[in-house]
Amino acid sequence: MAEHELKISGLTKHYGKTLALDEVNLTVQTGICGLLGPNGAGKSTLINLITDNVKRETGSILWDGNEILKMGAGFRRILGYMPQQQGYYADWDAEDFLVYMARLKGAGRTEARKRSGELLAEVGLSDVRRDRIGSFSGGMKQRLLFAQSLISDPQLLILDEPTAGIDPSERIFIRNYISQVAGGRIVLLATHIVSDIEAIADRIIILKAGRILRYETPETLTEELRGEVFESEVPLEKLPEIYRRCQVSNERRCGTGMLVRTIGRETGLALGGREAEPGLEDVYLRYFPNERR
Ligand code: ADP
Repeated sequence: MAEHELKISGLTKHYGKTLALDEVNLTVQTGICGLLGPNGAGKSTLINLITDNVKRETGSILWDGNEILKMGAGFRRILGYMPQQQGYYADWDAEDFLVYMARLKGAGRTEARKRSGELLAEVGLSDVRRDRIGSFSGGMKQRLLFAQSLISDPQLLILDEPTAGIDPSERIFIRNYISQVAGGRIVLLATHIVSDIEAIADRIIILKAGRILRYETPETLTEELRGEVFESEVPLEKLPEIYRRCQVSNERRCGTGMLVRTIGRETGLALGGREAEPGLEDVYLRYFPNERR
């Protein structure tokens, strides 16, 4: 299977005085790469620079060694992009929309129809292919947007919050489908939903305030927290104090009190808790502590 490389160097971006990306250097190889960070971290800016939707300030972005700005239409053909927004093309039907997108990418009429039909079947929208997109549920719209991103069989697939605002079964469908189509491509997946990334990402980028803090496998990131994550049963009234003193990653009712999941060995032991298996949500919390503390 072909290997590809997206190499980003010295990428800085300001909006007025706001620094959105700060000297980002990153080389991504074939596989699924999750882009994780809170609002304002710079995820959209990074994506918009790769898709050339915002003006480059400094730095380079190379696809298999070639500057994407110089590749022009050649780069757009290998790029598939699923934006966040829904609501475009509400009066179109699903099939016309896909055929149109395929034609924009340079497909002939017959090829565009064929590819659209295949994708509609794959995302389970064949029966409604003649219905108005405006009449679709959120999950159906997301599936169609996802299908659209695959229309030119792209080598670089960028998905911006593909599972935002849809119900769990739709989310699982999209998550599994991303996994299925990822072979031989670079998939860059920005999301707030940590469990989606945990399930399918080969690598994770942790982006904070315009800087890349980590670029690692999920296993490496979670292993680093081994011995730090504890679950402890505490009385309800102790919670405010625990939030003041500890990093709490989860809490749920248990018996007459609460079962709290905390990060930090000392505090975990002090609460009399037992060690728990670290997960990516714990990792997220380590880099982005919650506000209630
Ligand atoms: P994320 O996608 O992770 O939420 P963004 O890339 O949207 O982050 O934002 C990074 C920073 O840049 C934030 O401080 C945000 O307020 C600012 N920003 C993003 N887009 C614009 C814009 N069009 N004009 C001004 N500031 C912007």
